[in-house]
Amino acid sequence: MAAMAGNAVVVMRLLASAYSVAEKAGAIVRKVLHSGELGIVEKTGVDDLQTLADRLAQKSICASLSKSFPKITIIGEEDLPAEAVEADLIETGQYDGILQKPCPDEYSKLKEEELVVWVDPLDGTKEYTEGLLDHVTVLIGIAYKGKAIAGVINQPFYNYQTGAGATLGRTLWGMLGVGAFGFQLQEVPEGKRIITTTRSHSNKLVTDAVQAMDPHDVIKVGGAGNKIIQLVEGKASAYVFASPGCKKWDTCATEAILHAVGGKLTDMHGNAYRYDADVKHMNSAGVLATLRDHQFYASRVPQSVLKALKSD
Ligand code: AMP
Ligand code: MG
Ligand code: MG
Repeated sequence: MAAMAGNAVVVMRLLASAYSVAEKAGAIVRKVLHSGELGIVEKTGVDDLQTLADRLAQKSICASLSKSFPKITIIGEEDLPAEAVEADLIETGQYDGILQKPCPDEYSKLKEEELVVWVDPLDGTKEYTEGLLDHVTVLIGIAYKGKAIAGVINQPFYNYQTGAGATLGRTLWGMLGVGAFGFQLQEVPEGKRIITTTRSHSNKLVTDAVQAMDPHDVIKVGGAGNKIIQLVEGKASAYVFASPGCKKWDTCATEAILHAVGGKLTDMHGNAYRYDADVKHMNSAGVLATLRDHQFYASRVPQSVLKALKSD
């Protein structure tokens, strides 16, 4: 019997909500930019910023999801005071295109309390403040038993340079056993090594690892979400970031979408990250992500880099 939308299993309803909530957050990110008042504050790290958009988007995402799913665990990037959330930040919609998909058997009986949601309300904040708008994404990842199983990426400024007539912004989503949607899957031509890496958080480990891949080209852009989009759209063959700095909210949604199309995201040693509610937030051993040929890139990482980056 085909499941009616109202009867969809909890993980599909959560993912459908995450899609609508990510669109709302994307609209907030655009609105704050247009207001011209970014409200930038520096967090504890170097080149680690927070804007009003990061704060409002996280409030919207967390309040909306916990209203509809009170028993899930939600972990957001920003440290915010517990306070009442304005009604206009709450999104209750659920994207029908997800509700209509059959849920893989292995996830059909999951309970709300078994799900962990990792939220990066604005990935690529540094680039957002510098006007590199297409680097910006909103990331919502869903984990079960420590594994990233589904994710949503909203890109609020997609098409912003294309001009009149083009729709501004888009949403990509994916789930293990279902596939990934909202974009056209493409691969870099066979044998071409195009590395995408950080533009604002580089260091010697990062550049040593990139050079060891003997790349034909290196693309330096902001955002973990943005770099995963480059992989699945055939712009880059590997995302290489041989440094601590990325956190679980950067990689949960992105890993799920990449894995849904047969790609792989690991630390620089080739080991998987876990997304249980109690894990360390920092991805200390870096990020290596590919659509194909993961083993080749992993085998190229210099010993000196591996020694500097311990797996958890
Ligand atoms: P990037 O590729 O530099 O845009 O980084 C991808 C994600 O990891 C972004 O959310 C960054 O904020 C975060 N990140 C990477 N390196 C650092 C760092 N050294 N300090 C703070 N955040 C970082
Ligand atoms: Mg981020
Ligand atoms: Mg962020």
